[in-house]
Amino acid sequence: MRLIVQKYGGSSVGTLEKIGKVAQRIIDSKADDIHLVVVVSAMQGETDRLIGLANGISDRPDLRELDQLLATGEQASAALLAIALKNLGVSAISLTAQQMKLRTDGVFSRARIRSIDRKAIDEALNSGAIVVATGFQGIDDEGNLTTLGRGGGDTSGVALAAALKADECQICTDVLGVYTADPNICKTARKLNEISFEEMMEMASQGSKVLQIRSVELAMNHKIPLRVRSTFSNDEGTLVKEEDKHIEHLAVCGISHSKDEVKLTVRNVPDQPGVASRIFSPLAAAHINVDVIVQNISKEGKTDVSFTVSRADGAAAEDILRRVTEEIGGGVIDIDNKVGKVSIVGVGMRSHPGVAAQMFETLASAGINIEIITTSEIKVTCVIQREQMADAVRVLHEAFELDRAKPSQRLITPAEVETKVKSKGKTKAKAKAKKPAVVKTQSKQVKKKK
Ligand code: ASP
Ligand code: MG
Repeated sequence: MRLIVQKYGGSSVGTLEKIGKVAQRIIDSKADDIHLVVVVSAMQGETDRLIGLANGISDRPDLRELDQLLATGEQASAALLAIALKNLGVSAISLTAQQMKLRTDGVFSRARIRSIDRKAIDEALNSGAIVVATGFQGIDDEGNLTTLGRGGGDTSGVALAAALKADECQICTDVLGVYTADPNICKTARKLNEISFEEMMEMASQGSKVLQIRSVELAMNHKIPLRVRSTFSNDEGTLVKEEDKHIEHLAVCGISHSKDEVKLTVRNVPDQPGVASRIFSPLAAAHINVDVIVQNISKEGKTDVSFTVSRADGAAAEDILRRVTEEIGGGVIDIDNKVGKVSIVGVGMRSHPGVAAQMFETLASAGINIEIITTSEIKVTCVIQREQMADAVRVLHEAFELDRAKPSQRLITPAEVETKVKSKGKTKAKAKAKKPAVVKTQSKQVKKKK
């Protein structure tokens, strides 16, 4: 028996009509030798609606009660999907976190999964049923309902796939897969056929919103192949998997960006051991993710430190920074709310020298000033002004030739996607005829420097 986990996001189950279509799709993908576990998010807009209700009473609703409230969204969509499946004559059962004993820690609104007891799921699967599990929710040791943070349904899907040792975890969503850049701002962006876990991690952490980063991390740790695909198209999507020698790596596989950054700079702090930790420890304690950090060369025993946080954390980070600078003495604080970051990502960077230089040259010739640079082995990130972001993404996409198909990648352009989506619903033969030609792989071994 193969076991497949399919996760459907809120937009896939946003209306009763869509729930009906998803039910049909699930039935079509169910074969006798496949066990199916389906994980659902709340219907589109439902989580926001519930948060709105709570905020109508209080700006800071009690987090335990908020989780109790938000968890209802997933319970409703799971039950509705199970009703739809049963209505179509197949055996199905919806299960909540409590029924699956999906345990988390007790951090309300951003809980982490600890364990899943597979007994209830196995029993249902062995009886021939399709399991429809609630995403996003868990229970803590005291039996309180918890939630995993916005977008946490992806993490639920992967965690279930890992616990059940699934053969594949499919994230079914409203895009065709992972793109070389955001197709909304880069018209020549292409869907990638495959991407490695590491690249996906960098793409997700640098702003690509297609997958929640924790879900990618979990899939990588448990070696569960992840397939990102569209709920309402037959395209095979993008397979996120372990790096293998058969993929001919481009130096760069994608450009990711995030407009939601704030740059904080504190000038003239004493250049002494312990200063960085005094600045960043309280930020960590407040669960604020700090991304790009630079410290300048010191002049006369004083130095400047700059870093970025997401816009959502900007105000909290500023408060902490003001408090800390008062304590450590000195410090003029600058806040720049108009920045964003653009990154190039690719495991091919390990074996292609000069990639970073090419990025800087490309941005320079487009008149884009780089404010901060950070790199990892497979990523280069530049902090730039937000208003130049769209241009930056486009020029980099072109410079790294991501708009052109490479032999080893079955890439399709948005225009081809249109054809595909339109041809869906017409006869199969027609849809087939419009399918873009697939370019055969000429795999070339890439020597890994290690
Ligand atoms: N329903 C939750 C949210 O809207 C979880 C999810 O969709 O993944 O964030
Ligand atoms: Mg969602």
